[in-house]
Amino acid sequence: LTADNYPNVKRDPRFSQLTREDVDHFKSILSSPSSVVYAQDDASELQGFNTDWVRKYRGQSQLVLKPKSVEEVGEILKYCNKRKLAVVPQGGNTGLVGGSVPVFDEIVVSLSAMNNIRSFDDVSGVLVCDAGVILESADSYLRERNHIFPLDLGAKGSCHVGGNVSTNAGGLRLLRYGSLHGTVLGVEAVLPDGTILNDLQILRKNNTGFDLKQIFIGSEGTVGIITGISILCPRRSNSVNTAYFGLNSFDQVKKAFIKAKKDLGEILSAFELMDGLTQDLYHTVTKKPYPLADRYPFHILIETSGSNVEHDMAKLEAFLEEVMGDEIVADGTLAQDKSQADELWKWREGLSEACAHWGGTYKYDVSIPLNEFYTLIEDCRKRFDEAGLVGGTTDESKPVVGVVGWGHMGDSNLHLNVSVRWYDKQVEKLLEPWVYEWIQKRKGSISAEHGLGFAKRDYVQYSRDATALEIMRRVKRTFDPQGIMNPPMVLFPSHQAATIS
Ligand code: FAD
Repeated sequence: LTADNYPNVKRDPRFSQLTREDVDHFKSILSSPSSVVYAQDDASELQGFNTDWVRKYRGQSQLVLKPKSVEEVGEILKYCNKRKLAVVPQGGNTGLVGGSVPVFDEIVVSLSAMNNIRSFDDVSGVLVCDAGVILESADSYLRERNHIFPLDLGAKGSCHVGGNVSTNAGGLRLLRYGSLHGTVLGVEAVLPDGTILNDLQILRKNNTGFDLKQIFIGSEGTVGIITGISILCPRRSNSVNTAYFGLNSFDQVKKAFIKAKKDLGEILSAFELMDGLTQDLYHTVTKKPYPLADRYPFHILIETSGSNVEHDMAKLEAFLEEVMGDEIVADGTLAQDKSQADELWKWREGLSEACAHWGGTYKYDVSIPLNEFYTLIEDCRKRFDEAGLVGGTTDESKPVVGVVGWGHMGDSNLHLNVSVRWYDKQVEKLLEPWVYEWIQKRKGSISAEHGLGFAKRDYVQYSRDATALEIMRRVKRTFDPQGIMNPPMVLFPSHQAATIS
């Protein structure tokens, strides 16, 4: 989709058009010539920055800036604010809601050249690093020091820790290590007028006024650019076990979850759900044999992380005895070593890519109370079947390959994915606002962990009331009175009426 496809969203004429003089100015303030990528000099390099991970949104930015220090970010924003040039911060560009790419001609400020670890204290476990450090690199650095990053997700090879904090990413182990709102201790950020906020706290306790970092966590680049973070990292577990199960119904899945919490308790670090169709798509794309002899309507992946191998194994055995003995699970396998565990994880982590294999995916990342958790997928599938739009992996005349679900069940977080051959108006009409109304009726959240971005900006009222939106609007105005940060995808569009004075 390009700007021409957004009938309701127009480029705000208050923002200036980029000129050659602006580009020359940026060249003069940035230390390296490679920090400025201008379309008129090198159009090909811009493509990747203008297109999002799901290849659904495409902007027309003419300029990418890659500052190397917080001071350079400060100079960039100071100038953009003065000249009223709109900006979109970009990390690894793996966001799934169209928030990381320009919608019109916003300048992309990429954090990719700010990728240093600044310090690590192995007594407290506090890591301080640049925002542009790739998540996997941070985790590898920590592993060598017997720690781990408290967040893990399928895009770890590309996403930045600054992007993770900006989206308040949840990921695979939130169940165990909690949200970034708890683990991030501080941020260094540049405000839209170029002011540098150095709030890189390294202590857990600090009750000295407003907790400013929380404004930046999950703000999706709307209040400033995060340039550094400090984060509390747990010690690496001595004993990690991964098990993969097949189950015949969602009721059985719920029973397995109750047992896992009871038997595995504090060592339970992931409880992931994948429906049978997701496993079929992954199998079709990768040609890998299924992990179990049969493919079941539901699969779960359970991970435990503890400090004592014997103690953990005893707990796991008790759990296996109960779920097998009570016929809650139909079949299962326990990874014997790290490479087997990594292989099992691929049947969960590889699903986004497998779904996008045929052309694209409509993605909905939602929170739903567990009672009706999987009903959303069943209801959605029914809508598409009735409309005759589903062609499976073979019928190329139909837009929809399949309606599938997976998610972080331990956090009540479901990913509804409609895998398609092409993005299609008929498909969109069946999905929106139907999905959001469905969620609202169950008091769920229309965005559990991916954020709002451009994809959901017009639907936020399904999860937040007018008073909450007005307060957010005021916070945005305080930080960014000119509105230069990510203007087309602002969290709280002005067309939603203010109700507090
Ligand atoms: P980008 O995509 O570049 O940006 C995301 C948003 O943050 C944009 O609005 C951007 O403007 C803003 N931003 C980026 N960097 C900064 C900065 N330094 N300062 C201010 N604003 C900034 N998410 C989950 O929560 N859980 C998952 O399990 C999960 N799994 C995923 C699996 C795959 C295969 C993929 C592709 C994505 C997945 N995601 C998941 C989406 C997730 O939001 C991103 O992967 C990640 O958190 C975004 O980081 P990024 O560096 O790529 O940010």
